[in-house]
Amino acid sequence: MTEGPAPIEQQRVLKTAIPGPRSNELHQRKLSAVSAGVSTGLPVYVERAAGGILVDVDGNQLIDFGSGIAVTTVGNSAPRVVEQVRAQVADFTHSCFMVTPYEEYLAVCEALNELTPGTGQKRSALFNSGAEAVENAVKVARTFTGRQAVVAFDHAYHGRTNLTMALTAKNMPYKHRFGPFANEIYRVPMAYPFRWPTGPSRCADEAFEQFVSQVHAQVGEDNTAAVLLEPIQGEGGFIVPAPGFVRRVADWCAEHGILFIADEIQTGFCRTGDWFACEFEDVVPDLVTTAKGIAGGLPLSGLTGRAEVMDSVHGGGLGGTYGGNPVACAAALGSIETMRAENLNARAKQIEALFVPRLQQLAAKYEQIGDVRGRGAMLAVELIAGAGDLTPNSALTGKVNAYCHSQGLVTLTAGTYGNVLRFLPPLAISDELLSEGLDIVEHAFAAAL
Ligand SMILES: *Cc1c(COP(=O)(O)O)cnc(C)c1O
Repeated sequence: MTEGPAPIEQQRVLKTAIPGPRSNELHQRKLSAVSAGVSTGLPVYVERAAGGILVDVDGNQLIDFGSGIAVTTVGNSAPRVVEQVRAQVADFTHSCFMVTPYEEYLAVCEALNELTPGTGQKRSALFNSGAEAVENAVKVARTFTGRQAVVAFDHAYHGRTNLTMALTAKNMPYKHRFGPFANEIYRVPMAYPFRWPTGPSRCADEAFEQFVSQVHAQVGEDNTAAVLLEPIQGEGGFIVPAPGFVRRVADWCAEHGILFIADEIQTGFCRTGDWFACEFEDVVPDLVTTAKGIAGGLPLSGLTGRAEVMDSVHGGGLGGTYGGNPVACAAALGSIETMRAENLNARAKQIEALFVPRLQQLAAKYEQIGDVRGRGAMLAVELIAGAGDLTPNSALTGKVNAYCHSQGLVTLTAGTYGNVLRFLPPLAISDELLSEGLDIVEHAFAAAL
């Protein structure tokens, strides 16, 4: 075996301004080579990364509170992922599972069937991206039920392909000028406690009543193939549905022969302190979509569901040239092994315990922090104009985010109104880096307010 590069010290190091001169140079190249439609939140060019640290081309070491959008849950270049990928790349890189199959694909499907909620017989299929998994969930649901309509929620994010753009709620930047969109998609209110008009305590009941009456009156149960829900909404602002809402929606779907699809692409694989966020309310979805955290950074997605549902599709109906690529599968196996061996569900809960009191202290200090929410290592604060005025404060969100970036902390924003600062650290990050990152967030609020 060849020796890898020297290990990366798990320490923040600032050698230049952020971004530094070499990053700025590369960014000039980006502007002339890459479509302007692809933007970057923090134009610091990464050279190496491990655990909770990103090393840029100027030698700066940044603390990672983003995990490349909830992907490197096991840490960047996690040792088991690297080892399995290296071995697989040397064995073979592609044969196409639909042509000449291989065992790694089976092993990932078996792991998905075992780890997703529900004890019955399950089947899985593998794809490349989250959006592709969602597209296939809709294909399967339509085939199985013989119905067409799909119900999605306010603030939902399901991807950027044509069908998933239609399922996504937010116009800018995801949908603007990209229509026409796929039809037979219907949108209903989300049980969003912080912004529920009559207050959080009535949110679950009223949102559920509105959901039922809108599907009944505007779509018709018998026309509805599936209800698609993120058990905690991701891009929409880390909205945790009011307690009981997910469970009631899932039960109602079962009563009406409608499939309940949990989009666990962001919430899955230990992110919220469970393998899947649906487990929190003991919900067993008919179909689950997975991606992001599944393979330690390699592109892979999955669709898992009850055997009778997944097997209802005609042979050849599901697939794709690269879906379940053997290298991506090897990465997923290394990643799942890491999650089990290092008990990353427990680690996500520790991270929650470390973060939440500090975020709540900040919220007590600044009336512009309207809400602290999330679960496990999927946490956020929602910023508003001030006490009693819930006007979204995207300007402050932008300032705080930019300050964190300037200090070498990679943070992300989210939310339909761009006023949510979200935290998605890799679960391999040390407590020291977490505390240091939170210190920077505190300074950012002090500097901005
Ligand atoms: C990111 C995401 C998607 C889309 O995944 P891609 O891999 O970017 O296509 C879909 N659903 C949810 C909940 C996501 O967070």
